[in-house]
Amino acid sequence: MKGLYIHIPFCKNICSYCDFPKMVSSDCIKTKYVSKLIKEISSYKKHFKEIDTVFIGGGTPNSLSLELLEKIFISIDDVLKNSKESTIELNPELITYDLCALLKKYNFTRVSLGIESIKEETIKLINRSHNKKMVIDSIKLLKDFGINNINCDFIFGFPYEDMNDIKNNLDFIKSLDITHVSYYSLILEDKTVFKYQYDKGLLKLPDDDLVADMYYYIKKELENMGYHHYEISNFAKNGYYSLHNLKYWNCIEYIGCGLAAAGYLSEIRYENCSKMKDYLENDIVIIDSIKIENIDKKKEFMMMGLRLVDGVSQNKYFELFKNDLLTDFKDEIERLLKKDIIEINGDKIKIKPDKLFLANVAFREFV
Ligand code: SF4
Repeated sequence: MKGLYIHIPFCKNICSYCDFPKMVSSDCIKTKYVSKLIKEISSYKKHFKEIDTVFIGGGTPNSLSLELLEKIFISIDDVLKNSKESTIELNPELITYDLCALLKKYNFTRVSLGIESIKEETIKLINRSHNKKMVIDSIKLLKDFGINNINCDFIFGFPYEDMNDIKNNLDFIKSLDITHVSYYSLILEDKTVFKYQYDKGLLKLPDDDLVADMYYYIKKELENMGYHHYEISNFAKNGYYSLHNLKYWNCIEYIGCGLAAAGYLSEIRYENCSKMKDYLENDIVIIDSIKIENIDKKKEFMMMGLRLVDGVSQNKYFELFKNDLLTDFKDEIERLLKKDIIEINGDKIKIKPDKLFLANVAFREFV
């Protein structure tokens, strides 16, 4: 079964570190965008029966009005009724009673909240506007509506943060009683406010050793809280893995709709245009598509599979490609074993638990 990703590129503010496709826009643009998006979604109607996970991400989906959100939900109503997991990303400061009621009405089963940090100075620095109370209240409201599968996104390595700030975030996470935590490392992306400030010497980041210590501390503490570390940056309690994201990591096909969205369908990877004007005015919004050859599929299987803490399965590889993994990637595997980055344990090849922070070294072998 496939996944469906829908991109909402609007935000209330632009965060200092963010390089996602997003913008602050007028109601008029939002209205035009939603009607074009619905048109694009309907062009995939013949695949609706093959979809069992939905992810509406952004941007900030709840920066759209309830009317516009409902129009999108109506356009995928059949999919939402039958999907195993339907997730929407929300910013806590924009969660209302009516929004939760709408999500319940359209069978959303999972919400992903953008929190990033609870340190007031950091929230201000990254240009966000929530506080602890808003997070607590929004989670309570979601749970009152029976939406109990809740992820919170956090980031470590923010400027001026130290281990104490990480401890405070983790104490807060513990108090929330949520099913899933995504804890990412800050990356200084080009064309972001942070990158500009850093290049000008206006921003002080924690050093690399401290950031690595933060990662392993977060891993240990979340595991102590009962979360299963199943992907480099993702932790789930009681089996509440992100079924939609597991599709990406297991190289399963998905449809992507919206500005700058990417998809993988019928062995073709495609990408939509990233300029709003083009998206609204052009009949065809796909600007790039490429048939995935077998060798690329194999490399992707390795690169994505190694993101999973359990690693890649040699048997699964053989099932998919009718070749032996250790023969196909003999040199790459040997190099990574020599660098002590990976280990082979029966059927599984995985990154060593104490090397997960260096996973990029392994991924580079399969680019
Ligand atoms: S809310 Fe999310 S998408 Fe929007 S600017 Fe911030 S990080 Fe980027």
